[in-house]
Amino acid sequence: VKRQPDNHVGFFDAAMSFAVSERLTLERSLKDALRDGHFELFYQPQVRLKDYRLVGAEALIRWRHPELGVIAPDKFIPVAEETGLIVPMGRWVLETACRQMRTWTDQGLMPLRIGVNISGRQFRDADLAETVAAAIAESGIDARRLDLELTESMLMADGEGTLKLLRELAALGVTLSIDDFGTGYSSLAYLKRFPVNTVKIDRAFVRDLDHDEDGRAIANAIISLAHSLSMKTIAEGVETKAQAALLARHGCDEIQGYMIGRPLPVADFSVFARNYQES
Ligand code: C2E
Ligand code: CA
Ligand code: CA
Ligand code: CA
Repeated sequence: VKRQPDNHVGFFDAAMSFAVSERLTLERSLKDALRDGHFELFYQPQVRLKDYRLVGAEALIRWRHPELGVIAPDKFIPVAEETGLIVPMGRWVLETACRQMRTWTDQGLMPLRIGVNISGRQFRDADLAETVAAAIAESGIDARRLDLELTESMLMADGEGTLKLLRELAALGVTLSIDDFGTGYSSLAYLKRFPVNTVKIDRAFVRDLDHDEDGRAIANAIISLAHSLSMKTIAEGVETKAQAALLARHGCDEIQGYMIGRPLPVADFSVFARNYQES
């Protein structure tokens, strides 16, 4: 039987070129948005489970598009990664988060730790440590309040180079977290070779807490192992009081999720933090 590739190829080509031109448009728009100041950081609260004190916030990028409104990062971070724009964008995130921390300190808000997401491409950029050092120096913040969120795959890549970079970052005084822990294929025992302070337990495990014994056993095991390796634990995506209660019972240190608060624009986060402090 003879196939009729023409139709298929034709269709495929059209779809492809559409995707390519759409991507090019997106790429150009992202560059313009960075130049024109259309990116914004939202902040999501993180609280300590033993006393529900507000201790930190994760900075999460948003694109405030003049026509389309607020665009979530999963719509543009992958393209920024592929094109390399993530490097200047990530520098902007670091500078903005550090400046924000400084502003909040100057305004008398309680001292908060801020978590900043670092992408794979940014991690492999030779200037990362220098960029982090500059953001700290320029804002004059206490480096210990800056936490860099890295993923397992970044740490799995190349042993020696990775270890050297992480030591360099740790020497600046910042802390390091493993984001989305449990979604990669690394083990905590392996990750312990690196100067990592905190394990962020992925939302998938928190969701499973409600479901069954197995879900609880896994979360419990991650928390116990992290503690036995002197690492702190933050559970992500905590949406219910039941989840928070189970995590507290297992000794989890901190939680982040809609139960406490959604990611908020700066002004709203400041109000949230002040109210939270008083209540
Ligand atoms: P992430 O680092 O794992 O960030 C947590 C994501 O979970 C955020 O999505 C947050 O809004 C969402 N989330 C928080 N609490 C809950 C909850 O209780 N339930 C549910 N269903 N979701 C919750 P967001 O802000 O859309 O960010 C998505 C991802 O984009 C982030 O995942 C991170 O990987 C990436 N990202 C965000 N900002 C930056 C950035 O500045 N730089 C880089 N390189 N990546 C970023
Ligand atoms: Ca994160
Ligand atoms: Ca995460
Ligand atoms: Ca993620």
